[in-house]
Amino acid sequence: MLLARPSIEPNECLVSYLIRISEKNGFKHIGHLLRHAGLAWKNNRVPVHQILTGEFDLNVYLLQLGLATCSSKIEPISHSFQNVIDTPYLIVKYPKVCPDCIEEFGFCRFEWSLLPYLACVRHGKLLIDTHSGTGKRLNWYRRYLNKFDDTDVINSLSDVAPSEAIKLSQYIEVLLQGGNGISCPKILQGLELRESLSLIHFIAHYRSRLLGGSFQPLSMMNSELAQHYQYVWAMLENWPDAYYKFLNQYLEHPMSKKGVGGLHKHFRDLYESLHRQSENKGIARIKFEFDHYIENYWPSVLESKRITRIQFTTRQRNVVSRKEAAKILNCHPDRVDKLVQQQKLTPRVFEGKKHYSREQVEGLAIQVSSNWTMDEACEALQLTRYQLKQLLDAGILHTLQRPDMFNRDWIVDKVQCQELIASLCQKARKNIPASGVLSMTSMQRRGYSIVRLVLAMQTGQIEFGQLYVVDHPLSFKQFTDFAFK
Ligand SMILES: [Zn+2]
Repeated sequence: MLLARPSIEPNECLVSYLIRISEKNGFKHIGHLLRHAGLAWKNNRVPVHQILTGEFDLNVYLLQLGLATCSSKIEPISHSFQNVIDTPYLIVKYPKVCPDCIEEFGFCRFEWSLLPYLACVRHGKLLIDTHSGTGKRLNWYRRYLNKFDDTDVINSLSDVAPSEAIKLSQYIEVLLQGGNGISCPKILQGLELRESLSLIHFIAHYRSRLLGGSFQPLSMMNSELAQHYQYVWAMLENWPDAYYKFLNQYLEHPMSKKGVGGLHKHFRDLYESLHRQSENKGIARIKFEFDHYIENYWPSVLESKRITRIQFTTRQRNVVSRKEAAKILNCHPDRVDKLVQQQKLTPRVFEGKKHYSREQVEGLAIQVSSNWTMDEACEALQLTRYQLKQLLDAGILHTLQRPDMFNRDWIVDKVQCQELIASLCQKARKNIPASGVLSMTSMQRRGYSIVRLVLAMQTGQIEFGQLYVVDHPLSFKQFTDFAFK
């Protein structure tokens, strides 16, 4: 049995406790201690990660050593993490410690085994996980709690930790204690640890990608990790402005050399990640601002159908060049510039070149093709060009576009014409015409221009009949047998 049986301290890390027991009883490291207690793992290895998460039941072995049982504090936290929508990174791979705390209190706190806990809030310094001289990582199998190996004592840093690192650690600590009186950026308020850590890691990940690297928190040294978290914390303190600035950086770093295409890929990628994890309240908060940003600053990046449904059904880019826009509109590229002057198209400058929203261009093309030119309107309504022009000038028929200094073409509102004809059909008399009716030509001879005639028909000043014209259902010629009331 053991010579010394220290008891576990409140807030002590279970592995720290094992190291202390092992150290006080002269074992080489915790592997030897647990072998002594009956754990038969190969090469005296110990399931450190599972001990930290509480998945591994240490109590059996503590009882074997004649010690009181205890449970991991991290277990309930780690169990609250949901695999798919939360960050997978919570617990450190290598230990990190505050040497000053070890000296003062004689044990390691369990918060230190959480990745985002960067600095000791009591001593204001970054935690140590690496030997400053040799670069060697501190490990769980050390003989002494306060030494790297048999001789090298873990020294604390001389510098004070960056304020963001301290604030983040304070935030984590208060969160673990139930979150009362927590002071944190507004965006984090009311979030659980799993949610805020997911949010933080999400941003850290995309920031690393933007810089061409990757965010691998488990293998990073604490000081390196601190730089990433520091950046994110500063962003959260200036939310959402700093986040918008961050998203703006994509404009200067489009994915690969694909230019606009790469930019779209970036945003789509971001969007899809946000969408997949949107059940996580932290991620949902990023998504809210992301959607806001896209809507306001770069609206054509995401197809509207993609917002509700993620599917790679189309490989088409959402932003098109001037030439492509002209092709879609079936016009000369100069016409595209004129549409911009008419404020019918909004160009977006990217890498010094103007681009156009495919949605907007196609919308215009649809508007043109689903309405009438003058000739089409004349044919459908069976009017002369002169008559049509009179009706348009009188405002009886509507236009979507009139010729001006930017264009020569009329676009006649087809739907409105259809509605007008339909309403005249309804006004037509239903019974057999009385005697003395006049044809349209006769009416015109009596001074009824097409405009005057249609107005009289609309107001009921004259009666008229209707004869359906099969080839031209919208023809004005279907109205006959005019009679004065
Ligand atoms: Zn400390």
